[in-house]
Amino acid sequence: MRVSIIGSGYVGMITGMGFVKLGNEVIFLDVDEEKVQMINEGRAPIYEEGLEELMTEYREKYRATNDYREAILNSDVTFICVGTPSREDGSIDLRFVESASKEIGKALGDKEDFHVVVVKSTVVPGTTEGVVKPILEEQSGKMAFKDFGLAMNPEFLREGVALKDFLNPDRIVLGVKDERTKDVLEKLYSPIDAPKVVTDIKTAEMIKYASNAFLATKISFANEIGNICKKLGIDSWKVFEGVGLDHRISPHFFRSGLGFGGSCFPKDVKAIIKKAEEVGEEPVLLKAVIEVNERQPIKLIELLKRHVPELKGRKIGVLGLAFKPNTDDVRETRAYPVIRRLLEEGAEVIAYDPKAMRNFRKFYPDVGERIDYAESPREILEKAKVVLILTEWPEFEWLDYSKKIVIDGRRIQRAERTAEVYEGLCW
Ligand code: NAD
Repeated sequence: MRVSIIGSGYVGMITGMGFVKLGNEVIFLDVDEEKVQMINEGRAPIYEEGLEELMTEYREKYRATNDYREAILNSDVTFICVGTPSREDGSIDLRFVESASKEIGKALGDKEDFHVVVVKSTVVPGTTEGVVKPILEEQSGKMAFKDFGLAMNPEFLREGVALKDFLNPDRIVLGVKDERTKDVLEKLYSPIDAPKVVTDIKTAEMIKYASNAFLATKISFANEIGNICKKLGIDSWKVFEGVGLDHRISPHFFRSGLGFGGSCFPKDVKAIIKKAEEVGEEPVLLKAVIEVNERQPIKLIELLKRHVPELKGRKIGVLGLAFKPNTDDVRETRAYPVIRRLLEEGAEVIAYDPKAMRNFRKFYPDVGERIDYAESPREILEKAKVVLILTEWPEFEWLDYSKKIVIDGRRIQRAERTAEVYEGLCW
């Protein structure tokens, strides 16, 4: 099949190259000229393991453009993969979905063959039919579910293992209304051996939010129990090992520490909180999930101050800036509130991350431009007596932490074993 991808970020690139790998031809589209150029040169605009190798291997099977007409007229299915960030009040910002829908709609007006538009971006229930559909219909002069197909297909990939997740998902959710569209999507996904959950469109939208809200809840729950354990001198990781073996609970994603970040959990939980309030529901639990998460970086600073009461003028080494290992993504990274607080207290910060230093500086200029960056993790240990571990990159397991004061938000075992002073956040 010929697929076009609107928005060539994390989800767009993985979806597009995933479909290439499954034997399809793909046109990527982005408003960012630099990304378009990089893709056309066979380079990945984001860091994700295996992506650039795949782009090299299948060089003839994809291209990129910024021209919507070209993308829509030369494809059979279009996936909307643009960002859906939070507004100031936490509600979903649909600006990019709206502008993409408008351009797709204009191009659809000129298309003779049946075309399917699929919303893959995470959108609050009601968006595909209440926002995307009217824009597409108005711009194209055509009717959804009759003249063109419209569906919602949420994405569950995890950055760092995104290609693997796309090709071997736990499930594929297809939110559809008309048979033709359902057939197209089932055909496109037929090479993937995974349960396919076919629902109506707003149920598919909600499945994504319920999944992310549950996972975020699991982390905040682990952190709340972890904070209690810390006070009681109990290793919460051992506790969760014992608890997770209950098959109703599962050991996966059950770790205490600095909390969740990234482009999805914080914004999606906030968006569904706002949506709930909009329809007159008070989401008590979900609000607490966010509150617990926001407290974890403060707890780390409190632990640090137990060992280093005066931060003014102290050099603090930071290991890890990405919101999790194996990605260069720094959106909502817990490193940001920690470093901001260090700077507020007058500390001098030197940081290292294998992939995310450039992004950190660009995304958070208010702190990113006020800190030093090291060439290697070893340089951090050479230059700072006090070290904070904020992302669990595997290479941090190979460092010499002796003679260091280490406050660990993620649990690097080598540091735990060898540091002169070691404090784990919840263990
Ligand atoms: P991203 O910011 O990495 O990529 C979005 C891309 O869309 C950018 O390259 C941007 O330039 C482009 N764009 C913006 N407006 C556009 C327009 N009008 N036309 C064409 N391109 C446009 O975002 P992402 O992380 O890939 O997330 C995309 C969506 O997928 C979001 O809704 C997100 O919640 C969801 N999602 C993300 C993940 C993840 O792990 N990143 C996982 C599952 C779902």
